[in-house]
Amino acid sequence: MKKSRNKKSRLIITLLPTVIIFIIFIWFLMTIFEGKKPLAKLTPLPEYISKSTTFNVVISDVKMGLRDVKVSIKQDGPAVPLLKKNFPYTGLFNKKGVHIFDGEFTLNPKQLNLVQGQANLIIEIHDFSKRRGGDGNLTILEHKMTVDTIPPSMTALSRSHNINRGGSGLIIYRVSADTRESGVLINDILFQGVPFNNDPHTGMYLCYFAFPCNVKKDTALYLWAKDVADNEIKKSFHYHIRQKRFRKDNIRLSDRLLDAIITSFPPTIFKPDDSNIEKYLFINRMLRKENTDFLQELCQSPSNEKLWDGPWLRMKKAATMATFGDERTYYYKNNVVDRQLHLGIDLASFARSPVQAANTGRVIFAKDLGIYGLTIVIDHGQGLATMYGHLSSIDVAVDQVINKGDIIGITGTTGLAIGDHLHFGFLVHGVPVNPVEWWDAHWIKDNILKKLSMVEKLVEK
Ligand SMILES: [Zn+2]
Repeated sequence: MKKSRNKKSRLIITLLPTVIIFIIFIWFLMTIFEGKKPLAKLTPLPEYISKSTTFNVVISDVKMGLRDVKVSIKQDGPAVPLLKKNFPYTGLFNKKGVHIFDGEFTLNPKQLNLVQGQANLIIEIHDFSKRRGGDGNLTILEHKMTVDTIPPSMTALSRSHNINRGGSGLIIYRVSADTRESGVLINDILFQGVPFNNDPHTGMYLCYFAFPCNVKKDTALYLWAKDVADNEIKKSFHYHIRQKRFRKDNIRLSDRLLDAIITSFPPTIFKPDDSNIEKYLFINRMLRKENTDFLQELCQSPSNEKLWDGPWLRMKKAATMATFGDERTYYYKNNVVDRQLHLGIDLASFARSPVQAANTGRVIFAKDLGIYGLTIVIDHGQGLATMYGHLSSIDVAVDQVINKGDIIGITGTTGLAIGDHLHFGFLVHGVPVNPVEWWDAHWIKDNILKKLSMVEKLVEK
């Protein structure tokens, strides 16, 4: 028994080094022949490529490390290299080699003479594994894109565009089928065009735009479009701006008036240590600007359908107390303290008069709005909207569809108002314009309806 155990242990002792060497050998093979493929991440992943674009590629290999990376772009011909990198083998089992690489490359379709249509961006990465005949594990990442470097085409179809400073205009144009966004551009304001009959297949768009009263008189208007690949076109069109002088108005601020105005606003909006004139200026500048910006934002997604019909109604038996574009200078103790433009028309009748919807549309705002007090905004479609400020009560709700002439509220003095009146504002894509034009059936016929019937005929053809 003892003899046989001795024999067994001797055998184990003799075999042990061999077993250990065998295990080490297996571990060695498994290490150098590891089968884990390198990882790769490419950003961005655009669907279209129109201009020189910088891409970022992050590749990694935790085991044997990165051997090389090659990025190329392929269309019908041979692949064109964009990035090529070989990494050194350093240290035992490449422990000190490159395991993560974060690099950039630029793809300029024009410089590379790429043709319009599909292109395949290919990233190939090898690691230092001995697999695949010593070439290493291979990862191939492909990203298919469409090369489109041709800007959309855009042609004005309507001819006469006579616009009053502070007034509105309508242009009809045709754009190519891959257009994503288009309209009239003035400075950084884009008046968005909408497809005629809400049908983009006609390629015909109509765009209501304005020549805002607060831009320099020689500011240029452009037609502008952008396609699905982000190619842009900006071109001039025929128009004529009729310059207009706006009324000047002086407003004297007494201490009694300041007190009455300030107490009609919630005290929490002011800095407690401010004097009354500072509080007033906060309302007249900051709050006014905030409210103007809000209205512009509010009107950015109008209904694409024409909801209005015929001229807008002017409040019945009402006197005009202030006109559009009035340049107001504010005096306090004989010093000029502020200047502001009046961006609507003030209409006054007897106190607490009913207010009618000036045209058919959908209510998009119905609550308190800073200097305008209780306010209603109605969307008339395709970028046209009206606002009704300083109301004492509101009789409609957001999303309610309103017919021309419906009673929507009662006049009052809420907000920054002296005396009971209606502040009536007309907005083209959120930009305040002179409402007088939209009350005038002749102006609408000559500047709007004639163009709409022209495009109607073009669509029928
Ligand atoms: Zn007003």
